[in-house]
This record gives sequence, structure tokens and C-alpha cells, in this order.
Amino acid sequence: MQPSAFADFRLPGRRSFALRLLVATLFLSWAPTVASTSAIIIEQGVSGTEAELCRTAVTLAGTRMGQIFPWLHARSLPRVRFFPSGVPGTAASPWVGGLYHASDHRIDIQHVPVLLRQGRLESTVQHEFVHAALALAGSARLPLWLEEGAAIYLSSQSLDETDTSVQPARTLRELENGLYTFGQSRTHVAWLHLKAYNRQARAIVAALIERNGLEHFTGFLRTLKNGTHLAQALGSWYSLAPGDLAAWL
Ligand SMILES: [Zn+2]
Repeated sequence: MQPSAFADFRLPGRRSFALRLLVATLFLSWAPTVASTSAIIIEQGVSGTEAELCRTAVTLAGTRMGQIFPWLHARSLPRVRFFPSGVPGTAASPWVGGLYHASDHRIDIQHVPVLLRQGRLESTVQHEFVHAALALAGSARLPLWLEEGAAIYLSSQSLDETDTSVQPARTLRELENGLYTFGQSRTHVAWLHLKAYNRQARAIVAALIERNGLEHFTGFLRTLKNGTHLAQALGSWYSLAPGDLAAWL
């Protein structure tokens, strides 16, 4: 092959790479709330290729969640650690991919190879970034259905939509109690319940976001994180009472 032919062959690729780089740079400099980098810790046992994908997932999570939650910016990003299997010394359920620790604003992602195999690494990191953003928004505790529903919906996490072995919750209280009780357990039955309740929590969040948009929804969350009672915040932001939400279960 002649060198010039080789150069011609390579040129379009280089050009498109340069173009992609330019577009990415423009996009990053244009979006004002884009978070830059989180501190990332890759634990031993995670391969080089997996580590690269972990870093990409964190960058993507910072960008996406920085746009949704404007208060999540470069200086307030969580630290993220990646583990090849379960996080040592914790009792985290084996089916849980990520954990957020508000005490030191840290995310632990476990079972990296499994998450990658299942195509769940990116959404798992983003899910935990939602928890991190909410923790920064205020110290009041959100109802679990809202906290988890928001994390699932905003991370575009895929859920098992086919399992119908569990009777869904009929009231908000039942949903909240179910998420709490089964979230403490590591049994298979608990997992089946959680899957059903997670779908319901996501459905309520989806309905709220469809009603008035994403910015309205994060404003509502912020009000709650500042300590406003659910009934009051729901009334002022959505003209709804908590009982009305059962319609979306
Ligand atoms: Zn969660």
C-alpha cells in the first residue's frame, strides 16, 4: 500500500474524530451546569478495560445529573469507588449494584463485571448520583418511594417488567412500608417484592414529571429536602393530596 493511499484512508476517520471532539468540547463548554470530574477509586480486581468503562460511566453520570440537578457541580461531586465483587465488610444485598453513603458523600459500586455484562453499569452509577444530588439538596428525608422512584426514573434504569408474582401495593403507605421492610431483607421473596414496588415508585415519579416537567419536579424535591411536609409540598407544587397519588399505583 502506498503511503498516500494509507493517509487518504485514515483521513476521514481522523476528521470525524476531530469533529466529534469539537462537538463534545462545544457541548461541554456550552452546558453551564456540567460537572467535571469525580474522584474515582478503582479497587484491585477490576480490569483495565473495565476501569475505563467505569470512568466513562462516572463522567456521563456527572454530566447528566449535573444538568438535572444544577446544584451538583464540580466541587460537590461524590467520590466513586468500584469493586470487582461485593464491597468488603458491608451487608449490602448481592443484587444491589450501588450504594451511596451520605456520611462522606461516597458512592460504592460493586460487582462491576456483572453490571457490565448486564449492561447496567451506567444506569447504576447515575442512580447513585441521584441519591448524592438529593443528599446535597437538604437534610430532610424523602419518602422511600420518592427517593427510589426518582433515582430509578432519572437514571433510566431498566426494571424487570414481566414479573407479576407479587401483588402490587394499593396505597402509598403500603408502598412505603413495603420498600422499607423488604429493603432490609436479603431473601429472594423480598427481592420479588422490591421489583414490583420499584416499578410502582417509578410510575408515580413518571406521572409527576409528565404533569409539569423535570425542573418543576426537582423544585418539588428541593422543597421537601428543606423540611416541608409532603402534603404541603404536594399541594403547593402539584395541587394534589398524598392520597391522589394512589391513582398511579
Ligand atoms: Zn437507590
